[in-house]
Amino acid sequence: MSEKPKVAFYWCASCGGCEEAVVDLAEKILDVVGAVDIVFWPVALDFKRHDVEALADGALLATFLNGAIRTTEQEEMARLLRKKSKLMIAFGACSHLGGIPGLANLWDRETIFQTAYRDSPSTVNPEGITPQPRHRVDGFELTLPGFFDTVRALDQVVEVDYYIPGCAPTPKIILAAVQTLLSGQLPPRGAVLAPDRALCDECPRKDSRPEKLMLTAFKRPHEVILEEDKCLLAQGVLCMGPATRGGCEALCLQGNMPCTGCFGPTSRVRDQGAKALSAVASLVESDDADEIDRILAAIPDPVGTFYRYSLPTSRLRRKRPAAAARAGEKIAA
Ligand code: SF4
Ligand code: SF4
Repeated sequence: MSEKPKVAFYWCASCGGCEEAVVDLAEKILDVVGAVDIVFWPVALDFKRHDVEALADGALLATFLNGAIRTTEQEEMARLLRKKSKLMIAFGACSHLGGIPGLANLWDRETIFQTAYRDSPSTVNPEGITPQPRHRVDGFELTLPGFFDTVRALDQVVEVDYYIPGCAPTPKIILAAVQTLLSGQLPPRGAVLAPDRALCDECPRKDSRPEKLMLTAFKRPHEVILEEDKCLLAQGVLCMGPATRGGCEALCLQGNMPCTGCFGPTSRVRDQGAKALSAVASLVESDDADEIDRILAAIPDPVGTFYRYSLPTSRLRRKRPAAAARAGEKIAA
């Protein structure tokens, strides 16, 4: 009897939604389990790091790694699993693009620690203690993973063969990707395993999007009663559909909410945020600079809106940490 291909799942800096997405396969997970041996999946199975270290290099057909790289331990595990895997799959938006954890690149480690461990209203920490990579207690040394200044996407740390997009990837996208990988008929290396078309092309509201769309105001979803069959941009609500890859079957639009861009850009777009920003700016109907400023000022949190999932892999990548720059400190990554 031939052995089933071995695969691993691993979780780095993410919310856990990608792990839920695997469970959301429901009875279809039995098809996956029937086709492969899952030999490492810390969230569900009791295998340890030394079990992975004991594998021969390339013994795994694929590792599905979700989450961005925030800590030294995550980087070590990404490198170890890369060595043991024929295929490294960036699973979900955080691994693919940096994701929501990547918005932390607007700050550096020191500022994040200051806020989380000293300044936040619910914190009581009179000695101002922050996590240390090494600490001695009663003659024993305790260690914690190091915390980088910069959040990185998986391919900024190790080579990635394929990407499964989404926050989280949908069951349909996951199953199609697994079937593609098992078929042996692999797409070109580096492919995103989802349709290479803009989300607007599969949106049920696309026919209501006017040929020429001009806006005099942007509104947030709670400020307007949204029509369920009309393009959200045409209703003045910012939708990332024009700058986002399709494949999710316009899930958020079906829930009467705008797309926030979790599938990332198509292959023709280098910077999803810049593409969306340029598309939106071209819709503003005014030649008056003050009026344009007033209209654009209604867009809340521009970085979080246009780069919600993709700041670490954008051209901007991160905000320059002033403190680190002053000290001439080399920013990790
Ligand atoms: S902009 Fe949004 S609502 Fe309009 S067609 Fe595109 S995805 Fe649909
Ligand atoms: S509509 Fe946009 S944000 Fe929602 S699941 Fe699809 S790609 Fe992601």
